[in-house]
Amino acid sequence: MKRFLPLTLVLLIGCHEHRCKQSEPAAPVKPPAKPAPEPYEPDQGVYGKSTRGQDLKWYRVGNAGPKVLITACIHGNEPYSEKTVSAFMEKLRKDPPKNRRVYIVPIVSPDSYPNSREVDGVDPNRNWDAAQPITPIKALQDFFLKMNFQAAMSCHTGAGGGWFYPYGNKNDLCPDDAAYQQMFKDMSATQQQPYYTKRACEMYGHPIHGSELDWYYAHGAIALVTELKTKNDVDNIYDAFKVFIDQAPQLKSKQRSSESLTGETLTPEDSMIQTDTVNNVAKELKTQIHVHYTAEPETTGQSWCVSIDAKDQNYNPVFGHANTAEQALLNALTRYIKHQKATIDNLTPKNQVKEAVAA
Ligand SMILES: [Zn+2]
Repeated sequence: MKRFLPLTLVLLIGCHEHRCKQSEPAAPVKPPAKPAPEPYEPDQGVYGKSTRGQDLKWYRVGNAGPKVLITACIHGNEPYSEKTVSAFMEKLRKDPPKNRRVYIVPIVSPDSYPNSREVDGVDPNRNWDAAQPITPIKALQDFFLKMNFQAAMSCHTGAGGGWFYPYGNKNDLCPDDAAYQQMFKDMSATQQQPYYTKRACEMYGHPIHGSELDWYYAHGAIALVTELKTKNDVDNIYDAFKVFIDQAPQLKSKQRSSESLTGETLTPEDSMIQTDTVNNVAKELKTQIHVHYTAEPETTGQSWCVSIDAKDQNYNPVFGHANTAEQALLNALTRYIKHQKATIDNLTPKNQVKEAVAA
């Protein structure tokens, strides 16, 4: 099934001139300013707050290349997943990947840690398709979209020693089934006690809805659930995790590369218009803007979700929804501009942005 078309535009605007220069008489042409050095990239941070105000923390190992997300303790009462993932992270720090950035979220649901499967009154691993997900899930979704992860793994305990893969919400084989099988072969080959593999829909003998796994996969990441053992199993999983980190971002996810459900695709001309529009906004606000396109009609009832984030915003993407990709982008940009309290009158193409404001 066709579902997804992400396109990322990254625009770097290095404008260091002050506005007053515009009114000065013509000066000799200066060589362009040297680009600013890359800001220091922290190796840990916070992507939000839980309902009870606890920090939602991430850690990173590796500082270049595709991004992989590993989460644990979405079910607070599975503390061994946090322990195993943290031990994995410590080991990985001594042996960091050359061309991967591995982001680790050891506790997705701190408010229920270590006592309860439910948090905020729901099973957080059946809440991902909700119109308004609970606070810690919404924060993790925003973090995922912001970071544009290409692979993701959700760690659990309770079904000792297995890998689960899409789909959870239907009995069909996912379009990447063969690629998953090949990866599992390579992962198992590293294990003293190989893990079993199953589709998540087979776990309970019927499909399950609203899982972290399906959401990541629907958003373009090769995704797995790892059912860890409730004992120190780090030596048994370490190399298998490394195979996942290495291979999963390279798999051409068929979800990721396919066209949208509506059949709408971006033509080169569309992309140019959008690039110009984003470019103008970025230039005007002297910032750097990343744009992510997601086709997800089931979630919003509209064909496109565009999230944008800018250099000056910390893990707070701005979203726009519409039935065309371009309108969704304009809606997102308009929100962002309002957020920045900037005037839209100076922007071009003016008619498009004004239309977006009216929408
Ligand atoms: Zn669990």
